[in-house]
Amino acid sequence: MANGENMYDLIILGAGSAGLSAGIYAGRGLLKTLILENHQVGGQAATTEDIANYPGFETISGPDLMEKMRSQAQVCGAKITCGDVTKVDLTGEIKQVEADGVIYKSYAVIIATGASPKQLGFEGEMEFKGRGVGYCATCDGFFFEGKDIFVIGGGDSSAKESLYLTKFGKKVTMIVRKDVLRCAQLTAQKVMNHPKIEVKFNTEIQRVYGEQLMEGAVFYNNKTKETWEYKVSPEDKSFGVFVFVGYNPATEMFAKEIKLDENGYILTDEHFMTNIEGVFAAGDVIQKDLRQIVTATADGARAAVNAEEYIVEYKESHGIKENLEPDTFHEEAAQQSSNDKSTTQQSTTQNSSKWITDDMIAQVKNVFDKLTKKATLVVMTDKVDDKYKELQELVQELAALSDKLDVIESVGGEDSSLTEKVNATDFPLLALLDEAGEYTGVKFLGIPSGHEFNSLVLDLYNLAGPGQMVESETKEKIQSISKRTKIQVAVSLSCHFCPEVVVAAHRLAMLNKNIESEMVDIGMFPKVREQYQIMSVPAIIINDEQPVFGSKKIEQIVAMIQKGQE
Ligand code: NAP
Repeated sequence: MANGENMYDLIILGAGSAGLSAGIYAGRGLLKTLILENHQVGGQAATTEDIANYPGFETISGPDLMEKMRSQAQVCGAKITCGDVTKVDLTGEIKQVEADGVIYKSYAVIIATGASPKQLGFEGEMEFKGRGVGYCATCDGFFFEGKDIFVIGGGDSSAKESLYLTKFGKKVTMIVRKDVLRCAQLTAQKVMNHPKIEVKFNTEIQRVYGEQLMEGAVFYNNKTKETWEYKVSPEDKSFGVFVFVGYNPATEMFAKEIKLDENGYILTDEHFMTNIEGVFAAGDVIQKDLRQIVTATADGARAAVNAEEYIVEYKESHGIKENLEPDTFHEEAAQQSSNDKSTTQQSTTQNSSKWITDDMIAQVKNVFDKLTKKATLVVMTDKVDDKYKELQELVQELAALSDKLDVIESVGGEDSSLTEKVNATDFPLLALLDEAGEYTGVKFLGIPSGHEFNSLVLDLYNLAGPGQMVESETKEKIQSISKRTKIQVAVSLSCHFCPEVVVAAHRLAMLNKNIESEMVDIGMFPKVREQYQIMSVPAIIINDEQPVFGSKKIEQIVAMIQKGQE
């Protein structure tokens, strides 16, 4: 019988609301449980500004709610691991999941992989994606400060995001194809009463057009059959179109084995079991009538309880007496959580950090405990100003969390050989040196705070710790790049998709001396934004060519470089 370190009772794919809730119930059921997440713990809910319909909280921010769920799942004994699932084999009695080259096995699996925003298909949508057409208000809203914004869709997402976008836009126009909003009544009232929002019912977008930037858009009234045109004013120069027309379920990987409906949602029975014995599904990924955090958590709970029953029966019927050592396992998972807590409590009284909160300290220490090599963080500027001081403070606070990290500060070109070594032209910057003191090609222009703090921590893990797994085939491709290559990843600090791209681009630099890779905070370096007319992040610029927008994995960035070299 399969056993060993990578054998679990239950593997949960996805750490959004459904996956974490399943983890809480499975952990409490003393199942040896692994939750695998490839992107961001918390899922879609963690990207929502304000949640006002989750029972028990009149209002709570998405990241806060999901952080509570994450911690509760760990306290209950579920282990959470970051891993990009590349292959699954779910048909056998022992299920197999491959993530980052590691094979995990279990008796049962819960698929809780959620869904991602849909594109609409109007003329110009792809051409102007990232230059005016967007899908994430929290990431890209600030590009449209003082400009006109159109929001397509009449559901909860478009209504909520329209309200959020009023922070930036001079006017927000909702384009709704029916004659009614289909979001919650309270949200609909807020939208209808908001002085900055106009709702155009029975209206659809036909096309957007322009040269470099979008100059106008054509809309169509599906009742009167009339079209009307919006033209940007010369003062504004640009405007935004945000598309929130529902989601595509993340089920592609399962399509061969699992029965899906015509829209790609997983079909489950009343026990949340799919067509395959021992494979369950929960949350936004399944076919259902109400997609909310509360229904996702309920699905997760029910799937976990049913999975537990299945596992117990399976073990009984197969005479499996072996214990997957849930007690030790749970103690370890809970220990990790209580370590986090005690570090947090300790630091509540001791932490005078401005940049790194108590919760973050516990998490960063967990990562930094794995560092085995030295690394140096070079903080450099041409003049001492507030921004430099902020960067200096953040880096000092971070480096204080590990004896493997040193800091060098350099002002006004005082160390010309260092300036040359890290190829410094714009400031303030942070560059990383390896244990031999060599420049790694990894640079941050601006302050890696907000979501970019994660990039910096992961970079250090990749540089001075065991590092994230890179497939050997991908590694070979990276190492075969012989031309000097400069990768810039333009980010905003509020973009939750950006760190994945920054870390991947930085990893390329760490693996090949011909590659230099810098994160650029375009809030601080507007010249990059203007030069490439960026209106969405992440934007990847390779060797000063036109940017490519959106989330990209390391293999995709390698393919982009190879294409440019052809
Ligand atoms: P949704 O509820 O499916 O709404 C999609 C909207 O886009 C609808 O107005 C739909 O119009 C419109 N649409 C779809 N295809 C279109 C097209 N081709 N052209 C023009 N319009 C089109 O999606 P959602 O708002 O993203 O929400 C997804 C789920 O998450 C829902 O269950 C929602 O309740 C939940 N959610 C909840 C909250 C919350 O705070 N409670 C927040 C966000 C999301 P039709 O009505 O004509 O189809």
